[in-house]
Amino acid sequence: MAEDPNTWDVETRLVRGGMARTPYGEISEALFLNQSFAYESAGAADRRFSGEEPGFIYQRFGNPTTQIFEERLALLEGAEGCRATASGMAAVHAALFGCLRAGDHLIAGRALFGSCKWIISELLPRYGVETTYVDAVDPAAWRNAVRPNTKAFLIESPANPLLEITPIAAVAAIAKEAGAKVIVDNVFATPLYQKPLQLGADVVVYSATKHIDGQGRVLGGAILGSNEILNEVYKDFLRHTGPALSPFNAWVLLKGLETLELRVSRQTENAGKIADVIAAHAKTKQVMYCGRPDHPQAALIAEQMTGAGNVIAFDLGSREAAWRFLDALEIFDISNNLGDAKSMATHPSTTTHRSMTEEAREEIGLTQGWVRMSVGLESARDLARDVDRALDKA
Ligand SMILES: *Cc1c(COP(=O)(O)O)cnc(C)c1O
Repeated sequence: MAEDPNTWDVETRLVRGGMARTPYGEISEALFLNQSFAYESAGAADRRFSGEEPGFIYQRFGNPTTQIFEERLALLEGAEGCRATASGMAAVHAALFGCLRAGDHLIAGRALFGSCKWIISELLPRYGVETTYVDAVDPAAWRNAVRPNTKAFLIESPANPLLEITPIAAVAAIAKEAGAKVIVDNVFATPLYQKPLQLGADVVVYSATKHIDGQGRVLGGAILGSNEILNEVYKDFLRHTGPALSPFNAWVLLKGLETLELRVSRQTENAGKIADVIAAHAKTKQVMYCGRPDHPQAALIAEQMTGAGNVIAFDLGSREAAWRFLDALEIFDISNNLGDAKSMATHPSTTTHRSMTEEAREEIGLTQGWVRMSVGLESARDLARDVDRALDKA
């Protein structure tokens, strides 16, 4: 092929990136439900195991369908390499445990996805890794938390559920000076709207469960970065601990990537309209949406993101009001997922963030009145009517 895929626009990358056809010339990517692979000779097996000759060995190490997914996602991200994982949490777990060992120190933003918080607060300490939580929006807080043994920074931006933004370039520069790796959980921004590697991050992780599938079907995840970091830090960890993505799920996620840009751009357009409806309603105390000029970090968003995404958070003042709102919705589902074609809303304090103490929630500003919403692909007019009516009843 004469064309270099790296010169392609995003839409072309999403449809054709990583394409590898069998001799049958199939148009839709082939689904290889194959655990293991035969070698032509004992010598060929030897060369494949040594890495001298390329080729597949075992599904835990790699699979042709999974590899198309990895190459397509790497091309989208602008990363040298990608390793797919069975879920977003498998990616976060591997990203942290691959580069941390006993005696190391991690710095992380205070507002994080609930399971990430569990890994850091409950699991890492069992292996002798301490963490300092910081106010992620403030570069000075990251700098002040650096210790001689700081080995990694974990950034989630926009953060769940209140959409605080970490200044990634500034924080990555501090990490670089400290000799620490920067891991960015880029789920809320999606690979379309934020490029952490270009901002100085070493590793980007995704839950492909969210926008990349985006149709409520399968779990998946990914770790992206340079070939050097993937080979030296993550290759053996992933091969031997076994968080491999199922090829079936890789195939579903490939179909998801084909329509990712279409879906996320429409979801974002819809979310902008719905955020305005919420902001205009008398029952709303505060709305947080990355696409609104009243987001407290609007200038930073304009610098480091190219789109606002489809998640909105808003405060209705009390748990009772938030629950009345949720219970009055007729089109939106009450669900904690996000990035789906179907619009959904959740009450973080009693669902995704219930394992945090009340004080910890208050520290990140998550009081009982907040609702988090993921806007889908239904008609914006129908969604606006649903939200407006539910707000009346809140
Ligand atoms: C959902 C999510 C995860 C975890 O992904 P799973 O695929 O559910 O394991 C991690 N980080 C963020 C920000 C998420 O939204």
